[in-house]
Amino acid sequence: MVLADLGRKLTTALRSLGNSPVINEDVLKKCLKDVQSALLEADVNIKLVKQLTDGVKKQIDLDNIGTGLNKRRVIQTAVYKELCRICDPGVKPWKPTKGRSSVIMFVGLQGSGKTTSCIKLAYHYQKKGWKCAVVCADTFRAGAYDQVKQNCTKARIPFYGSLTEPDPAVIAYDGVETFKKEKFDIIIVDTSGRHKQEDSLFEEMLQVNNAVEPDNIIFVMDASIGQACESQAKAFKDQVDVGSVIITKLDSHAKGGGALSAIAATQSPIVFIGTGEHIDELEPFETTKFIRKLLNMGDIEGLIDKVNQLKLEDNEDLKKNLQKGRFTLRDMYEQFQNILKMGPFNQIMGMIPGFNDFMNKGHEQESTNRLRKLMCIMDSMSEDELDSPDGHKLFKNNDDGSRRLRRVARGSGSSPKEVFELIDQYQKFAQMVKKMGGMGLFKNGDLSKN
Ligand code: GDP
Repeated sequence: MVLADLGRKLTTALRSLGNSPVINEDVLKKCLKDVQSALLEADVNIKLVKQLTDGVKKQIDLDNIGTGLNKRRVIQTAVYKELCRICDPGVKPWKPTKGRSSVIMFVGLQGSGKTTSCIKLAYHYQKKGWKCAVVCADTFRAGAYDQVKQNCTKARIPFYGSLTEPDPAVIAYDGVETFKKEKFDIIIVDTSGRHKQEDSLFEEMLQVNNAVEPDNIIFVMDASIGQACESQAKAFKDQVDVGSVIITKLDSHAKGGGALSAIAATQSPIVFIGTGEHIDELEPFETTKFIRKLLNMGDIEGLIDKVNQLKLEDNEDLKKNLQKGRFTLRDMYEQFQNILKMGPFNQIMGMIPGFNDFMNKGHEQESTNRLRKLMCIMDSMSEDELDSPDGHKLFKNNDDGSRRLRRVARGSGSSPKEVFELIDQYQKFAQMVKKMGGMGLFKNGDLSKN
């Protein structure tokens, strides 16, 4: 999960409220202090951190909000809302329109991940059925054309570029015109970057901008430079009409909070985040979902979308079970199989409440190995255990339950604690499915957001 450290520290700070018998000024102060240091360690701008804690305090009147659980929830919600405020510049993101060609131009410094993100974005839309193409108007960096050619060819994305034409504006114009004639929905133009902002970069960017008249300009911001993102974003915004932002390398940088907090100053919404070097490691960004995931509150809507993509039509039994709000250990096993096929794995597990901590202790490979281990544990279960509508009850804390736990642990070469953890997570998942079934979220056998 991106910003896993920050997420863990914030969750711990908020959880500490649950450990206090009474919640008074001192407890609140200590919790907010922990929240503050977690944010500062993630390089969130100090002014915004102060604003956040002031905002939380303003929302909370400890004397007038009842007791215990209620107070806790009010504080947690206030932190959640203030975190959302930090990442949300309050501007609606641009969206492409079906039936007309939209041109998206990418800008940013060299090395920020511009070219990689262009291709990731084309791939993202292509998977959703849009006709996409990429134009390589980067004539500055040797190898840019080959990078686009190679990656687009692999992903079957049409591309345009030239090794002989020296003027990027001419290449951009010709590329866009070619694809417009061929009625492409989304034409993505990659432009040159430089190591630092300089006049020649901005001059060239303006020429390409004038040549292609983009519908949206995406500024690519590298999370690893932390708070420096803010001045960079402002410099680009002063030159061209930046409409949206993609933050890259959030996977590899604990200090990604700096990039997130720079957003407030850009007045352009983050539309995607880069979570790895691979073509499908680009996540649509929605502030509330992101913060919910960060605070380990889960992302049910995102999960529904993902499960929709699993082509449930192929699995009549699961469809029927979900409609009834029923979810067995075998269903979970089969979903894990699907997830392994589907990837990228961390994105999906992060959507399940409670699974953030459990699954994302390391990187992709580690998480995948962990999933295989869970499946290996389930391989040691009996048919009855796998198919019981309440599998967790069979592993209850009594003689029979402990015997089962030990048997499965022995059979799978794991510890009883690991089996217990699996059962515990299964129980949470099954309860969620029950709730979703009860809410009618699985209508007509499909998962629908209603
Ligand atoms: P450009 O000069 O801005 O076009 O940058 P590139 O697209 O060539 O990317 C520079 C480096 O960053 C490459 O090694 C990419 O693989 C890497 N990169 C890009 N996006 C991400 C990301 O989201 N996560 C990680 N870990 N690496 C990325």
